[in-house]
Amino acid sequence: MTSAMRTRAVHAGRDDLTDLGLHAAPLDLSTTYPSRDSADEARRLDVFATGALDPGTPVYGRISNPTVERFERAIAELEGFEHAVAFASGMAAVSASLLAAVAQGKRHVVAVRPVYGCTDHILTSGLLGTEVTWASPETLASELRPDTGLVFVETPANPTLSEVDIAALVAVCGDVPLLVDNTFATPVLQRPGRLGASLVLHSATKFLGGHGDVMGGVVACGAEEAARLRQIRFATGGILHPLAAYLLLRGLSTLPLRVTAASATAAVLVERLREHPGVRAVHYPGIGGPLVAFEVEGDPHAVIAAVRLITPAVSLGSVDTLIQHPASISHRIVEEGDRHGAGVTDNLLRMSVGLEDVEDLWHDLDQALKAS
Ligand SMILES: *Cc1c(COP(=O)(O)O)cnc(C)c1O
Repeated sequence: MTSAMRTRAVHAGRDDLTDLGLHAAPLDLSTTYPSRDSADEARRLDVFATGALDPGTPVYGRISNPTVERFERAIAELEGFEHAVAFASGMAAVSASLLAAVAQGKRHVVAVRPVYGCTDHILTSGLLGTEVTWASPETLASELRPDTGLVFVETPANPTLSEVDIAALVAVCGDVPLLVDNTFATPVLQRPGRLGASLVLHSATKFLGGHGDVMGGVVACGAEEAARLRQIRFATGGILHPLAAYLLLRGLSTLPLRVTAASATAAVLVERLREHPGVRAVHYPGIGGPLVAFEVEGDPHAVIAAVRLITPAVSLGSVDTLIQHPASISHRIVEEGDRHGAGVTDNLLRMSVGLEDVEDLWHDLDQALKAS
């Protein structure tokens, strides 16, 4: 992490505040924006209809919102893209990305397992009109077709933390846009855009918000992709709420500090888990990070029931440490055979390390493992 990342996490999307005489980002909750000049409003609507950003007054809250745009500018900058488009949740961002491919007449998606459970479901079910081919990074090149609109990967992947070589994949994808779900790494640990990915997606609900109290999703990308995503967002209505954008901007300020601190704690826990007799295997990505996955010898449900400091809950990226059993919870929706094929074993636990003291966390984890 560069010092510039820490600086920009605090200031991106907020550079104009001092000149406005403001300190905190203004929260604009308006659903509509009055205008006495309906000819001008019609002109602005025509501009918005193309998916373009208009520097003028907003028209309606489903099209754009000034607080949401601040968050979008911040993420675009942190991920190193020109644009970002924010959604009501990570899944709304995933859905819009798939619909954008379908709308261009390219309904075929190639994806690498594992991915987040609901992403797996939406691809496998074909709910949005896409057709998926599951591939490995090695076989991916031979699965691309003329109607392939998107290659979709998560790295590190949910929940096994397996990694994909983004630069190598970009070389294989050719003209087909590569979407990387960067939720687990955050721009602090990995910037897929620098490696050539066309779209970088986040469940902002996780590390970007960082406090377990806001849902959101965002896609950082180029101008053309952003215009298509805005058109789809306007049509389908999945825009981020302005209060969520406000909270996300606040969360971004501490993102580098939170991710760095939690990663350091996670690395210590990984070392100790590797030595623990109750643990069969530990999965920890090469890029590091606050997520740890491990397979227990005993009953994983007993560990979940026994933790007292660690929060037994789905989701991740919060200030508190969270643990969950992917086979029952986050990846329950994925068919058992597919789940096992992707390395999501029944003994696997996924832990998102928070900001607590490392010794307190270890004490809790150790007693919970003994209870199993
Ligand atoms: C949680 C998550 C999502 C979905 O995000 P929501 O905000 O819950 O809709 C997508 N991808 C990954 C990797 C996730 O962890």
